[in-house]
Amino acid sequence: MSKNYLKLQFYSYPRNQAFARDAVAAFCLELNPSLSDLSDVKTAVSEAVTNCTVHAYKDTCGMVTVECEIEEDKLHIKVSDRGTGIADIKKAIQPFYTSMPSDERSGMGFTIMQTFMDEFNVESVSGEGTVVYMSKSFKPEVENA
Ligand code: ATP
Ligand code: MG
Repeated sequence: MSKNYLKLQFYSYPRNQAFARDAVAAFCLELNPSLSDLSDVKTAVSEAVTNCTVHAYKDTCGMVTVECEIEEDKLHIKVSDRGTGIADIKKAIQPFYTSMPSDERSGMGFTIMQTFMDEFNVESVSGEGTVVYMSKSFKPEVENA
């Protein structure tokens, strides 16, 4: 299969989270994902985009970029913001770590992304922004004889 590419840019309003999640899901339909794979991708994208709204642009609104690339049976996703950045990535990706405990955050967003996707990486510079990379391979479903 040839490569395919999608780039979305939108403001960090909460109402755009569903749009981003569903657009990525629609984009990866050409890989014939199982419902379970599709649900994993939607959840991971939701978590990454929600973090842009809630953390990167905490008291403001800014641009979120979601890029997707299909290569063979693999979907690569890159979610970027130009917000606050993360000072200590090692700490931020620990399960249950949240910088906003009082807002009833559970600190599980990064853990969910890591669990639901095959590959995961975060790059960030304080004051400049954050980039989350994720990828997942879509194995063909085994048909029942
Ligand atoms: P939950 O996702 O369970 O609602 P959470 O968002 O706090 O809670 P994670 O998504 O795991 O948990 O993120 C952990 C921490 O990393 C956040 O509390 C925040 O401090 C920081 N963080 C995550 N994404 C970003 C981002 N895009 N920009 C700035 N800080 C971020
Ligand atoms: Mg989160």
